[in-house]
Amino acid sequence: MKSYRKELWFSAPTRRAFINITDPVQACLEESGVREGLVLVNAMHITASVFINDNESGLHSDFEKWLEKLAPEKPYSQYAHNGYEDNADAHLKRTIMGREVVVAVSEGRLDFGPWEQIFYGEFDGKRRKRVLVKIIGE
Ligand code: ZN
Repeated sequence: MKSYRKELWFSAPTRRAFINITDPVQACLEESGVREGLVLVNAMHITASVFINDNESGLHSDFEKWLEKLAPEKPYSQYAHNGYEDNADAHLKRTIMGREVVVAVSEGRLDFGPWEQIFYGEFDGKRRKRVLVKIIGE
């Protein structure tokens, strides 16, 4: 069995962002040489997500509005976590959007359903943060 590990770094210029990471994950898969197996992609930070959905800007705008209703960024004082930080909303948003995805690898390709793309969800940006890509198989 082959095993492959790589960290992908991102630096969103804004507090919140959705970044399509399908191509860099595909590049990892090609580099791994795995033809049949599994890819795990997870955020290595507790204020960021990795999730699969449609690459459609209206939907991303809907996610932003929906998450702001569930866990509004402000006022910062509404959260017990914000004693020394201001990112309680980012922890909550990350939990809703998820930590990781697993994608099947078939014949050397990411075996997606129709329209599936992998996204990095940033909820406390303006700094460098990592995503782990782990690939196992043969
Ligand atoms: Zn925090």
